[in-house]
Amino acid sequence: MTDQSLRGVLIGCGFFSDNHMNAWTRQDGVTITAVCDLDEVKAEATAQRFGVKTIYTNAQDMLATEAPDFVDVATTVGSHRALVELASGHAKTIICQKPFAETIADGEAMIAACGASGSTLIVHENFRWQRAFTVMKAMIENGDLGSLHFAQFSFRHDYDNYVNQPYLAEIERFTIMDVGLHLFDLARHFLGEVDTLSCTTQRLNPIVRGEDAFTAMLVHTSGATSICDCSFYSKVAPDPFPQTLARIEGDQGTLMLGQDYRLTLHTGSGAREIDAAPAVPSWGGAPWQGVQDSVMRFQNHAADVARGQADPAPSGADNLKTLALALAAYDAAETRSSITMADWQ
Ligand code: NAD
Repeated sequence: MTDQSLRGVLIGCGFFSDNHMNAWTRQDGVTITAVCDLDEVKAEATAQRFGVKTIYTNAQDMLATEAPDFVDVATTVGSHRALVELASGHAKTIICQKPFAETIADGEAMIAACGASGSTLIVHENFRWQRAFTVMKAMIENGDLGSLHFAQFSFRHDYDNYVNQPYLAEIERFTIMDVGLHLFDLARHFLGEVDTLSCTTQRLNPIVRGEDAFTAMLVHTSGATSICDCSFYSKVAPDPFPQTLARIEGDQGTLMLGQDYRLTLHTGSGAREIDAAPAVPSWGGAPWQGVQDSVMRFQNHAADVARGQADPAPSGADNLKTLALALAAYDAAETRSSITMADWQ
């Protein structure tokens, strides 16, 4: 790979994979040589939409034949461990959608498999790559807020997700594993590791099996606190889906991310608006542009990782700590207790 061009393959041609493919096919020096789905019709449809030459219904066959530089796993979580373990023997860079694993044991096995074969595991955690959060991170690193003591990451809406992702209504562990992972990653990204965690879950919409709302409070090792809250049953007009609203406070100022990506810096001398709106990709549109733009940013980063030009953000090992928070949040909710992460499991 002297010219830095990359050959990749995609596994899983479902709902969200269109974003992956739209982003890959617009990246310089990246070619998706083949796509795979257990469902041949879906693989064929994706190949046709994005001009991919070859389709497979068996990942093993695809990996053995294509010998790719990277593998992009865009299936749902139940297949992640087997696919990442398989892929680790065939490519130097493995990208796996969130939730990266269902259990800590699975996550550890996936990390170990990649470590043993010398491949790099990167988790498709795109929220920290949303434009507003990259702007906020840069401002905080610049010292604009001073020393941080509080944050809130809030994802509340009433959008009908069950049309595109019907499995969400059927899974026993729903919003913490679906959105909580993103919010906990943001909390760790901005405030660092977590000392204790408490959480309450709610089942509001009778059509869902698992919890469709939760409220978690995290105490970080720095002493800062954060609230991560989510609801798929909140009536707001216009509906903010799929935006995360946020507030981060430090001793020098507060950043507030409001609806429609309105970011404001508050300090002792007043408030200032900052441009944080994502670009609308040529292939995208409302309400998805924030997510679509973040997929472009994340996959640009993943390509840099595959070229050896960046460290994975987040790596599998890093994302395991976020997964631990999500799994501990269920235990906290069930036992109505605060969990000390160092003692958990
Ligand atoms: P989906 O069910 O629509 O698609 C998954 C596809 O994977 C299906 O077509 C299925 O046939 C295929 N598949 C499953 N096992 C396979 C295997 N072993 N080999 C080949 N193909 C296989 O799911 P989706 O809604 O596209 O979600 C996929 C993943 O993306 C999930 O983990 C979900 O949590 C995640 N997701 C992430 C975001 C985000 O913002 N990061 C948003 C939506 C979904």
